[in-house]
Amino acid sequence: MRFASDLFNNKEIIVPEFLYQSSKLPEFFPISHYPSLPQLPINQRFKPNRKIIHFLSGRHLLRDEIPFSLQELHAHYVNGYLQLEPGIQTLHGREMCMRCGNHTFSSFSCARCQRASCQYCRNCIIMGKVTSCSPLYSAPSRQYEPIENLTLQWFGKLSEGQQEASHAVIRAIQNNHSVLIWAVCGSGKTEVLFHGLAYALSQHKSVCIATPRTDVVLELAPRLQKVFPGLTVSPLYAGHSDPNSSFVISTTHQLIRFKNCFDVMIIDEVDAFPYSVDPSLRFHVNKARKQSGSLIYLTATPSKSFLNQETLNVVRIPSRYHGYPLPVPTLQWSGNWRKKIEKGQIPYTLIDWIKKQMNAQKPVLLFFPSIKIIEKVKCVFDEQRLLCEAVHSEDPNRTEKVLQFRRREIPILLSSTILERGITIENIAVAVVGAEDGVFTESALVQIAGRAGRSASYPEGDVTFFHYGKTNAMIAAIRHIRKMNQEAEEKGWLH
Ligand SMILES: [Zn+2]
Ligand SMILES: [Zn+2]
Repeated sequence: MRFASDLFNNKEIIVPEFLYQSSKLPEFFPISHYPSLPQLPINQRFKPNRKIIHFLSGRHLLRDEIPFSLQELHAHYVNGYLQLEPGIQTLHGREMCMRCGNHTFSSFSCARCQRASCQYCRNCIIMGKVTSCSPLYSAPSRQYEPIENLTLQWFGKLSEGQQEASHAVIRAIQNNHSVLIWAVCGSGKTEVLFHGLAYALSQHKSVCIATPRTDVVLELAPRLQKVFPGLTVSPLYAGHSDPNSSFVISTTHQLIRFKNCFDVMIIDEVDAFPYSVDPSLRFHVNKARKQSGSLIYLTATPSKSFLNQETLNVVRIPSRYHGYPLPVPTLQWSGNWRKKIEKGQIPYTLIDWIKKQMNAQKPVLLFFPSIKIIEKVKCVFDEQRLLCEAVHSEDPNRTEKVLQFRRREIPILLSSTILERGITIENIAVAVVGAEDGVFTESALVQIAGRAGRSASYPEGDVTFFHYGKTNAMIAAIRHIRKMNQEAEEKGWLH
């Protein structure tokens, strides 16, 4: 699209080429030619279309994503109800994609702006092409109507640790502050949010829970819908991206289409891949929230750099909801286990351990450093008639296999780090094979150990790290878990 500058009510505006009505044709330019477009004042005499205002409120969209005519959009823009900005702008001497925050671009011959070299953002192209001639449309976040029948239908009791964290969440929302809830695996961090969410919604605040993973969205949405039956919970993930309420549970990817939208932003698993390694996901989250709002981070394993932020208020929950300590991993030297597996053998320390767990009727979850090794181990186990299944990130049947394991149809599950978070199975025994490998960082090992002993009926899980040489990560993970147990003990929060 190309635009020409013009005047409207004595204010400078830009007009799309298709809508320009004058016999004297001006020169048209791509929108990037107009880097600073001011927000125009609201014209009280103009009657806006409520559907357009609702659709664009708090959103950040390309022309092709908006089901209204260019004429209508232009009228709302010149009368102060919408804002337009170039998709790519120069900030501090560097060009940036205003939708995803990326700084590297490619160029193409563009029919829309009729230039041989129009730039586009490769980073977010999967969500639609942002070019130097594409405008991004947005409208201020609207005031949501009060929700009738908003009651919290949850009558559980919070543990002491959860209680403290719950108060901290409410305070952060009341004062528009940020807080990190550092909650050990199995502490019940979702329940910690309930009272804060009830408070935020009673104040007509818009809320987003953002998580790096789609399966968390799918698990959380029905859970929260159940405790807030009067509310519409909108889950957002790839292929399901149109929210119709002020309460959104979204993957961090999907937040790319929001701007200044949410009063309360809750980021689950702030340390998890890909959020921790992809700076554009942090950009999305920051753009989607109102800068004047509150920010709540949840994690069991915050990174050092994250904790080093001076202004961050941290509240720890060192104990599990059931009041039993976290299982402390045992280290078990297993020699050159790779060589053994290559030869079609299972290290005897490992096979002894597996048999012991199976005799005790425990489901066995084994973590390995790579897909290649998992596949090899699966063959060796099959040869030795050890009934098992294997899952990894590229496995399309992953969900089904985990379900079979949950239903106890398979006694042993082999996994990559893909299952390090989120899996909860009663009475499970957990081991890492090749714990010395670089993929097993301190936080990965803490998360893996956090799979065991989560149920109040079986709080004492077995966690073993089989290794061919101790690493700092293993030692740090054990120290981390012991420190949390000690802190919980000192507070008198353990049985
Ligand atoms: Zn982009
Ligand atoms: Zn172009």
